[in-house]
Amino acid sequence: MSYPLPGNEIERLATLDDFRILDTQPDRRFDNLVEIATAHFGTPIALVSLVDADRQWFKAKVGLSASETPRKLAFCTHAITTPDVVTVIEDATLDSRFNTNALVTGDPGIRFYAGAPIVADDGSALGTVCVIDRKPRKFGPEDREMLARLADNARSLMELHRRNTMLREAADRDPLTGLLNRRGLDREIEHAMGATLAGENCGLLYLDLDKFKHVNDTYGHEFGDALLRETARRLQSAVRQGDLVARVGGDEFVVLLIHPVDQSVLEHVSARVLRACADPVMMLDHEVALGVSIGAAQAPRDAVLPRDLLRVADRAMFDAKRAGRGQVVFAGDWTASNHHNGAADADSAPAAELAMAIERDQLFLEWQSSHNLATGKLVGYEALVRWRHPRLGVISPNNFVPLAEASGLSGRLDSWVLYRACDEAARGPANLNYAVNLSAQWIANGNIVPLVRTALERSGLAPDRLLLEITESTAIGSVASAQHHMQQLRALGIRLALDDFGAGYSSLAYLQHYRFDVLKLDRTFVAGLGTDPRGDRLLEGVIHLSRLLNTSVVAEGIETARQLARLRDAGCEFGQGFYLGRPAPAPWEIPVMMPVRKRG
Ligand code: C2E
Ligand code: CA
Ligand code: CA
Repeated sequence: MSYPLPGNEIERLATLDDFRILDTQPDRRFDNLVEIATAHFGTPIALVSLVDADRQWFKAKVGLSASETPRKLAFCTHAITTPDVVTVIEDATLDSRFNTNALVTGDPGIRFYAGAPIVADDGSALGTVCVIDRKPRKFGPEDREMLARLADNARSLMELHRRNTMLREAADRDPLTGLLNRRGLDREIEHAMGATLAGENCGLLYLDLDKFKHVNDTYGHEFGDALLRETARRLQSAVRQGDLVARVGGDEFVVLLIHPVDQSVLEHVSARVLRACADPVMMLDHEVALGVSIGAAQAPRDAVLPRDLLRVADRAMFDAKRAGRGQVVFAGDWTASNHHNGAADADSAPAAELAMAIERDQLFLEWQSSHNLATGKLVGYEALVRWRHPRLGVISPNNFVPLAEASGLSGRLDSWVLYRACDEAARGPANLNYAVNLSAQWIANGNIVPLVRTALERSGLAPDRLLLEITESTAIGSVASAQHHMQQLRALGIRLALDDFGAGYSSLAYLQHYRFDVLKLDRTFVAGLGTDPRGDRLLEGVIHLSRLLNTSVVAEGIETARQLARLRDAGCEFGQGFYLGRPAPAPWEIPVMMPVRKRG
């Protein structure tokens, strides 16, 4: 089926493109417009429809579930061929252009259509504001006038949208080279690393031109500017499609490599960049060869947080400079950075070892049981991570969790633990709770919800079996996103525990901001029971508080029968501790030993 095209179709599509509005998110202001249209005309359907090369796409709609329809079926296809006229089809079944149209003979059963073109400044009709009914209607001159006015409003809104988009883009660009600036880069890194906690990866090259300052001082700023522009051009042709180039300082550039990235991609692209920048530049009768030093890093191997990725790559670049320019140094190349000495690097070796330990499966989990204190019945287990170090033996999490947090590894550690714990728990008894510890900083991170969801899906563990323990911390980040994620996790069916309750100073403020299902009473609290009457009163207070907040209480670190009795008498429902069970490898994972038959 063929359809009419406006005379200026090519220009019209270019103008439409220019508005950058196709496939954008819904916008309240456009929604208002179609709501006004249905309210005013009493039609069941109203649209802001934009006619693209082969479809009409709806910026706003009432009464229709589709977000686009093929152009050849669209009534608006006809309406935009007459930019000055409101097209009215009073009964489509009586119009030979439409009486066999699938939208008329089938769903949504159009009988009536009126569409006022949205006309851009250059005269192109980009689409329409249209109203549609399932029964024939009349549409008088005032109606046409009103619809045309709505279309003019839609045009103003589109203009506003275009201007805002342009301003936003300009704010993210470096005016000299047209590359992304630091702000734009930060946004892109954030976006690219969006999934690193869940294992997605990306790479980053931090570049510093080797002799730029000298050239700039010798030949002047104009020459320097031209050189920067030339470098920008070369970088852009040296990277893969989809990768991004930014200028982040005078002569510092960054290449962001988008997934998939591994060591060989990093090496390949940095070699190309080195070569591209080593070529001499001929300019204004001078020939200069600059050269560049590169620091390369990849996530999540070298960094889990966006700002850390930039930082480690920057540091590697610095090493490249020290190593003699024109080189690339990989942040993940721990052996190569062994030439570091000095205080700043003193702690990088253990961090590197820990990173390796995670990769090489030197970590393992023990589980500590928790019990109903009144009956002694087993109610669940908490996963506790250990590191089997090749030289030092088994290391306690107290000794490496802080290291992980300080060196940007806690995302990898926690995701390793979460995946492993869910896997093991999925094989455990089905009626128990399985608790996993999580660094507080992750709860505000956008990746936490997808990560947990993936861990559950992959392992098959039922969400209501999982309890996430978060220690109160000032490092939680944005309160609003933490709350939002906690709510999303809860919607999945997962429960949340506030760990080490009573050990910090801000517990009550915490309870005000965040909703928990479980309070885990810190073991210092339990240790004080029976020695100091105030400890006992405090315990009663906490139990009372938990009832008011509708949370359950798990007392930690129960080491004696006496402590157990006191807790039980105070009405504390659950507990864990050496007295009840020591952490040990998952008892359900231990292979059943076959009885050895006596010989003879
Ligand atoms: P936590 O979450 O408070 O875990 C309980 C700790 O108390 C464990 O130490 C456990 O072995 C110990 N414990 C249990 N019962 C008793 C008792 O009766 N008496 C005494 N004195 N101690 C008891 P562990 O395994 O050394 O863990 C220390 C801390 O490391 C944990 O404290 C938790 O904050 C952190 N952690 C452990 N595993 C992970 C993990 O997978 N991820 C993260 N982010 N942190 C973890
Ligand atoms: Ca815990
Ligand atoms: Ca605890």
